[in-house]
Amino acid sequence: MSSNPRVALIAHDKKKIDLIMFVREHLEVFKKCRLYATSTTGNLLREKVKLELTSFKSGPLGGDMQIGALIANDEIDFVIFLRDPLTAQPHEPDVSALLRLCDVHNRPLATNLATAEALVMEIGRFIESSDSGKD
Ligand code: PGA
Repeated sequence: MSSNPRVALIAHDKKKIDLIMFVREHLEVFKKCRLYATSTTGNLLREKVKLELTSFKSGPLGGDMQIGALIANDEIDFVIFLRDPLTAQPHEPDVSALLRLCDVHNRPLATNLATAEALVMEIGRFIESSDSGKD
């Protein structure tokens, strides 16, 4: 992994508010990450949380695939993808492909808030251990 964890943040529409609140709550950790997001999620995080991030196309227009390509190229360390399990998504095949690539490349993946809480603690530990290695 690189010293700044590279984290992809994605949320389906009904989960976007949850993601914004989650990121706000853990802002100190996320400020130390290199962040990537799909378009709408990224714009909201920029607007509401003032975070710098790299964003791609909207999920239904290929953004999940673009993030999947980064995973395949070993350019993403952690993925937080708050999925909406109660609404059919037109780009379900892309969502499945992204989740599959996380498994293929053994990338930690959180698809709900409870797991995201555990993952952010791990990201924080990773930052601490790479900071202490700098002395
Ligand atoms: P969005 O895409 O951030 O552009 O809404 C997310 C998704 O539905 O995969």
